[in-house]
Amino acid sequence: STGDFKILLLENVNQTAIDILSKQGYQIEFHKTSLGEAELIEKIKDVHAIGIRSKTKLTEKILSHAANLVSIGCFCIGTNQVDLEYAAKKGIAVFNSPFSNSRSVAELVIAEIITLARQLGDRSIELHSGTWNKVSAKCWEIRGKTLGIVGYGHIGAQLSVLAEAMGMNVIYYDVQMIMSMGTAKQVGSLKELLNNADFVTLHVPELPETKGMISTAQFNEMKQGSYLINASRGTVVDIPALIEARKSGRVAGFALDVFPNEPAKNGVDLFNNDLNAWASELTSLGNVILSPHIGGSTEEAQSAIGVEVGSALVKYINEGSSIGSVNFPEVDLRTLSQDQVNHVRVLYIHQNVPGVLRTVNEIFAEHNIDKQFSDSEGDIAYLMADISDVYESDIKKLYEQLEQTPFKIRTRLLY
Ligand code: NAD
Repeated sequence: STGDFKILLLENVNQTAIDILSKQGYQIEFHKTSLGEAELIEKIKDVHAIGIRSKTKLTEKILSHAANLVSIGCFCIGTNQVDLEYAAKKGIAVFNSPFSNSRSVAELVIAEIITLARQLGDRSIELHSGTWNKVSAKCWEIRGKTLGIVGYGHIGAQLSVLAEAMGMNVIYYDVQMIMSMGTAKQVGSLKELLNNADFVTLHVPELPETKGMISTAQFNEMKQGSYLINASRGTVVDIPALIEARKSGRVAGFALDVFPNEPAKNGVDLFNNDLNAWASELTSLGNVILSPHIGGSTEEAQSAIGVEVGSALVKYINEGSSIGSVNFPEVDLRTLSQDQVNHVRVLYIHQNVPGVLRTVNEIFAEHNIDKQFSDSEGDIAYLMADISDVYESDIKKLYEQLEQTPFKIRTRLLY
């Protein structure tokens, strides 16, 4: 029952998550910080789910002690602090929150478009040292200008709507055919976008194909005096080529929120880093905005993360739905109606090998299978089945039979 379910929440996850999880009646242990390895191993033995942010490393060593753990919630975007493959092998579904900060990024980009168009960063830096420098030459309104969005996903599409509301014309390039928002137009190639945009903004994922996707050849396709914004991933732009494009005036200004080698913690000097040999040159150029990967860093995004991951955990714990999991096959069945009697939902995580369904369906054979769905990802597979005509006396037997199958990883029965 949900009252027996224990959740360990670390690293001060957002209150919205605590509210959602405690409403379910789960037992919650909350810590403001991460825990040391020994303490974490002691605590993880006992709990059914754990909520972390980026500082808690859930390695194979730690997870090997997690006898009852069914799920991990990463209350953040990244999931590389968790050994995802090992977790999957142990039947532990991992969830994160990839899209809760899309709006925050889109709003920051709008701010940067205007800041670049008006050289606002430079004027502010000058006045901080006392210099009054009232300029209108090469300062522009954004109304009527063309914004070129590269990657029209969650952030790109959100930005499209905001930019149109400010009177911009929007064009976008994406590897997928995507329906446009408002009057935005999809163009057929990156070149076509670069040839026509006054502002180019990048919103593609980090992939082998997007690494260095904006380099000398692409800058040469951009309009003279256009602007570049990168709030996607640091590897997407070839920074030395960008510096050249700014020096030549091809690019009239640029904003970078992301860098190829970002420091892991606050207070580190980005410029005093051999990997970023170009870094000090960036600060000597005019009309350049640099920010420390804050596109998604807002209070609203934090509470949205709490809601998104908290709800995903509840759906998985209470109903078995693994939709949105990053290491698991995504399986779901319609929510069970409350008034169903003599009914069991079987959640059966198993090795992805031949013969499983035959064995499992033989176990189910005495009952009626209402619905069944299964999917696999790599070495593991997940089967969800709603079966009826199951009586209280059958449940233990059903569980034991499934547990004894040679390919089982984990069995849960919801009734
Ligand atoms: P998304 O997956 O919703 O959208 C990405 C889009 O890019 C998709 O439509 C995809 O089809 C398209 N795409 C993929 N490869 C492409 C290519 N080679 N050329 C053109 N289009 C391509 O992603 P999202 O949530 O909109 O995020 C976009 C980027 O922003 C990601 O790199 C993400 O990591 C980054 N991000 C940054 C911050 C920040 O703080 N600065 C915050 C959140 C996300």
